[in-house]
Amino acid sequence: MTTYFISDLHLSLHSPELAQGFCRFIGNLKDAEALYILGDFFDAWIGDDFDTPLSQTVATSLSSLSESGCRVFIMHGNRDFLLGKEYCQRCGAELLEEGSLITLGDQTVLLLHGDSLCTDDTQYQTLRTMLRNPQWQQGILAKSIDERLQIAKQARMDSSESNAAKNQDIMDVNQNAVQAELDKAGVTTLIHGHTHRPHDHKWSHGDQGYRRIVLGDWTEKQGWMIRFNPDEASNPDQGLLLEKFPLV
Ligand code: MN
Repeated sequence: MTTYFISDLHLSLHSPELAQGFCRFIGNLKDAEALYILGDFFDAWIGDDFDTPLSQTVATSLSSLSESGCRVFIMHGNRDFLLGKEYCQRCGAELLEEGSLITLGDQTVLLLHGDSLCTDDTQYQTLRTMLRNPQWQQGILAKSIDERLQIAKQARMDSSESNAAKNQDIMDVNQNAVQAELDKAGVTTLIHGHTHRPHDHKWSHGDQGYRRIVLGDWTEKQGWMIRFNPDEASNPDQGLLLEKFPLV
């Protein structure tokens, strides 16, 4: 039985091949005990009441996985933070809080989307505080679907404009923020996505070893995942593996 982690699929109506690739990936998870989707599953989400062929296809695919006995967890990213419990229910999934700790074999692992670690991007962190404010979110969800689509379109344009002007370094995680989150949680392993810089980082701090595994973003051609196989867990490097795979 294997546990899978994925993130940053950015599923959208504009990339049907990606959605098909995702459904094939789900259909092939025969040995899955749990699937963790760590944010930016959808490229945009304006509310569970906005039903589309994409949201229906994805819900059908995930609920059949869930019915087969695999637990499915969805964490918010910076693009789909309005995804709610109602849609999760349709997927047979549980909404997972950011910063959740899970047990894999004999280790405890911290799970984040990853945007909270990009503390050098102060402009984004200010925006994030607003976007994650429940009152602000309720105000948005009270608007009509047409208004919300308009707001989302504007937000995407603003974001790509401001990101294009930013130094690439400030859009990666801040190492002090990483260390602080690990210390606060009292664990040595972190899994996250968001930065689209897939890598298995290892370092020492004091006399303790640490590990941060970063998931990659999906394209129509390839996906990224982290796999945990308890049968290989005596060796942590092999038990927890970052992998890229073709989506065709
Ligand atoms: Mn993200």
